[in-house]
Amino acid sequence: MNVLEEVIEPVSASAEAEACSLDNYLALPDHTMDERIAAARRALGTTTILLGHHYQRDEVIRFADFTGDSYKLSKIASETDAKYIVFCGVHFMAESADVLGHEGQQVILPDLNAGCSMADMAEIGQVEDCWETLLRAGISAADLVPLTYMNSTAAIKAFCGERGGLVCTSSNARAAFDWAFARANKILFLPDQHLGRNTGHAMGIPLTDMVVFDPWQIGGGVSPERLRAARVILWKGHCSVHQRFLPEHVDKVRAKYPGIKVIVHPECRLEVCDKADQLGSTEKLIKIVKDAPAGSSFAIGTEIHLVHRLANEFAPQGKRIVTLDDTGCLCTTMYRISPQHLAWALENLVEGRVVNRIQVRDDVKYWARVALDRMLEIRG
Ligand code: SF4
Repeated sequence: MNVLEEVIEPVSASAEAEACSLDNYLALPDHTMDERIAAARRALGTTTILLGHHYQRDEVIRFADFTGDSYKLSKIASETDAKYIVFCGVHFMAESADVLGHEGQQVILPDLNAGCSMADMAEIGQVEDCWETLLRAGISAADLVPLTYMNSTAAIKAFCGERGGLVCTSSNARAAFDWAFARANKILFLPDQHLGRNTGHAMGIPLTDMVVFDPWQIGGGVSPERLRAARVILWKGHCSVHQRFLPEHVDKVRAKYPGIKVIVHPECRLEVCDKADQLGSTEKLIKIVKDAPAGSSFAIGTEIHLVHRLANEFAPQGKRIVTLDDTGCLCTTMYRISPQHLAWALENLVEGRVVNRIQVRDDVKYWARVALDRMLEIRG
């Protein structure tokens, strides 16, 4: 059983059969979806909200009622009274919306294949084995807080919630570390080694006090002595988009545009973050650009759709925005949400059919909610 099967109750076969065929939509060009999406959106009125992550393509995000990073969107999902939440993002975000939503709300992900390669790098069975390895190494569970980045499955969030841990995002990772260190001496950080390392490094934790646990190696590939000595145990996961940025890209862009400011997402490698002028979540990167005076130049190390959107939006103010790596880093899983998938999901809703509902199992939901609520309570 894979992780998706573990936590989702799929739409029944009969409901699937009733739904308008997705194939009929996929055969049509993008632009023919615009009016259909807008009409379905009008027909659904306030029963439905459409959330769009910043990395979504333009043809989709333009229909969003709210845009944001995973933290902002999860807060909106926890506060809305809309019956349907159509999440234009990736699977773990829709799961979090379902966990935080109210009784009777339903969350829809227009394409179930919109996953996240980073979230897929930590499966619950592997994480349970890791925990056992740490305990066998002589680490006390009371001295270890499991902390997971938002970009993880609901099962991993629940794992953390049940063991006194919490969820964090790139905007509040530092606050989450402080929260954890107020309760224990060690953190197990899942699943993004870069965000964990960057956060620990910014707090002054020496790199020698952080070890990487590789779930594909016996004992994580780390000796019990080193596990016992470490303050932060980093899961060996990464974002395939942000890890592509390299320190030489920073050198190259600075040589090409003298005086340019380099701003990057903390999912980038430490060597890239060290060379950058500022780090920030997508929301923070947007704010930095917005608040900068006319004539400013930025090279941004994050997903290409957001970089292009900012470049277009701020060009009239004389701000120059370029991508840090000019081959452009695309999140292919975010890209899966197409106008056709969105039209299909919305038109089915208009007909009273819920397709691609994301529904986290109740037992998983309970502890995932505990971990997410802790995140929402700490200051970012
Ligand atoms: S940008 Fe990276 S972390 Fe974000 S959804 Fe895509 S693969 Fe996952």
